[in-house]
Amino acid sequence: MNDRHNTIILIGIVAGIVLAFVGVQIFGEKMTMFGWMGTLFLSALKMIIVPLIMASMIVGITGLGDVRKLGSVGLRTVLYYAATTGIAVFLGIVVVNLIQPGVGVPFGEVTIPEQVAAKRDLGFSDIVLSFVSDNIFASMAQMQILPIIVFSLVLGGVLTTLGKAGEPVIAFFHGLNEAVMKIVYMIMWMAPLGVFGLVAARFGEAGDLGTLIGGLGKYMLTVLLGLGVHALVVLPLLLWFFGRRNPLPYLYNMAAPLLTAFSTASSSATLPLTIEAVEDNNKVSRKATYFVLPLGATINMDGTALYESVAAIFIAQAMGIELSVGQQVMIFLTATLAAVGAAGIPQAGLVTMVIVLQAVGLPLEGTALILAVDWLLDRFRTTVNVWGDACGAAVIDRYIDSEPEAA
Ligand code: ASP
Repeated sequence: MNDRHNTIILIGIVAGIVLAFVGVQIFGEKMTMFGWMGTLFLSALKMIIVPLIMASMIVGITGLGDVRKLGSVGLRTVLYYAATTGIAVFLGIVVVNLIQPGVGVPFGEVTIPEQVAAKRDLGFSDIVLSFVSDNIFASMAQMQILPIIVFSLVLGGVLTTLGKAGEPVIAFFHGLNEAVMKIVYMIMWMAPLGVFGLVAARFGEAGDLGTLIGGLGKYMLTVLLGLGVHALVVLPLLLWFFGRRNPLPYLYNMAAPLLTAFSTASSSATLPLTIEAVEDNNKVSRKATYFVLPLGATINMDGTALYESVAAIFIAQAMGIELSVGQQVMIFLTATLAAVGAAGIPQAGLVTMVIVLQAVGLPLEGTALILAVDWLLDRFRTTVNVWGDACGAAVIDRYIDSEPEAA
């Protein structure tokens, strides 16, 4: 997805809004005849979710190498990354509940409340039980996301221990992953028409536009506030406390990769620069740099995880859907895991956010709301992703010397 594509999406949204207003104000009717374009776009996104989760999770986990040989440094790295991602998601959930950017945004009534209602009364045991399915194929058919993620992680982990026997299967999922990403790109090319249809069919009441733009502005501020607290308070504290580093010079030395992350919106593309800055400027050991950073670029996405939780709850607020505590816990779990599955490429987080929405039964139509501003938020969250990896390298570095046998 490039800038030209983002521009076309914006044009699609603006055209949809204009048409919606012309329809309601002049002809006195909502432009529902264009709704099918949006439905087609959303169906295509849904179609790809299951193969996307399986392929991206398996590729991510098999990238670790034989999981039994991870060693204590490997394990600490994975735990550290999981913990910081969890903190980021928690922060996102707190700010979006405090600011409530979606309340009052006119998204119109939602047609599938039963689906959400079915997932409302999630108790503790329901959440634990929803990790494992008694029939993985039934879960795929019903798009129960958590068991598919768990199954994929287990399968991927086991495949790494099989040696030769596992190789063709891993290669298969690598191929599948590439193909799925290509299909996702194709679907995203449909996005301008899709959002045009969704917006045209839904908006149009007088006063809609002002509140819509105001709501989106608040949503952006909420994401930026969450990202800001995580990047400028939480991560520096961890860096200082566990990594024993002064955060200010550490940040200063990272200027080149962070600016590159902002301008490319891709943490993978930034990786070479991140490695160079962490090793040469910040003097983190080569061992830590070369083990922790590539792994981080694949599985550690604090910014993306935070954004996904804010976006999902914003959409629920805009649709007037109250989320129960159980559902918010579900958002916490799936946003943390979905960020693991997100590739380090532009707007990958937007696609895996669909996983979060699906997990709590929120209508995917909501993505139309946030597509307009995603290209910009993507740049900020990518910068935080890279900063999170860099802080991780310094923290893990302190524990490598005491464990020379691992990594
Ligand atoms: N663009 C992000 C990255 O490369 C992923 C995302 O879309 O959130 O890190």
